[in-house]
Amino acid sequence: MEVTLSKYAGFCDGVDRAYNIVKKIADDPMIKKPIYVLGSLVHNEDVVKKIEQLGIGNIKPGERLEEIFEYADKKIGTLVITAHGMGPKIYELAKKKGVDIVDTTCPKVTKVQRLARVFFDRLYQIVIVGEKDHKEVKGIYEWAKKKAVFVENILDLKKLRLDVSKKVAIISQTTQSQDFVKKVSDFIRGKYSDVELVDTICLATQNRQNEVKELAKRNDAVIIIGSPESANSNRLWEISKKINSRSYFIQRKYDIKKEWFDNCQKIGVTAGASSPKWIIEDVMVYLKSL
Ligand code: SF4
Repeated sequence: MEVTLSKYAGFCDGVDRAYNIVKKIADDPMIKKPIYVLGSLVHNEDVVKKIEQLGIGNIKPGERLEEIFEYADKKIGTLVITAHGMGPKIYELAKKKGVDIVDTTCPKVTKVQRLARVFFDRLYQIVIVGEKDHKEVKGIYEWAKKKAVFVENILDLKKLRLDVSKKVAIISQTTQSQDFVKKVSDFIRGKYSDVELVDTICLATQNRQNEVKELAKRNDAVIIIGSPESANSNRLWEISKKINSRSYFIQRKYDIKKEWFDNCQKIGVTAGASSPKWIIEDVMVYLKSL
């Protein structure tokens, strides 16, 4: 059986950068301890465990950001903002409480956040194409001062009612599907006259999505490695499934079932941006051994 690995599989630059920053600050005497990461640095259990082993804690962002600073009985020295980014309030709160921030927000996410604020200031109606419960999208929404509407699926698009007399700006979650964003912008442009679309899908995502289409066409089966919480991994699976019904989503090699590959000559493998290389290597070794 021939097994082909996507050249874009695994950590993207943003995740790699965040992970390296966290590893570096763990034993940096200049960094106030204890250190906590706000949410999962990466949507991958193995990586989260490795971070815990560095002595870095984890805080789940709750409904109220203030709760973060009341968290258990521990005093937080440094709070790490993950690559997904956060709204502006956390920076103000941390400053008030004397907590340092290490910000690993991916620069591509920062760009979308700032665009959201610029469009808000210029009185645009902002449409965010993305999953409204996703951390990155929640942060972008806050930068838009919570004055934006979400389009997560076709149903949202059909229900969309905007003021025809106002300008419309379309921005998207960095990991959105290009095809869906195009569909949304074509639909909105068809109904409203003053529409500005800024392509905020990151190149790492575009490359992965384009390549998974090719993998799905050229192979008998496709394996997508990722965590169920990882938006970009799920997107790869959705794209692949549309082209190749034998597309399988796994977290690690133990999820693979041999019967998936009955009569298969070629298998394509890709992985979301939060999949570490040791998991990908494990899967490749296993598939090649079949
Ligand atoms: S997927 Fe793109 S935007 Fe998201 S963290 Fe990676 S490089 Fe940054």
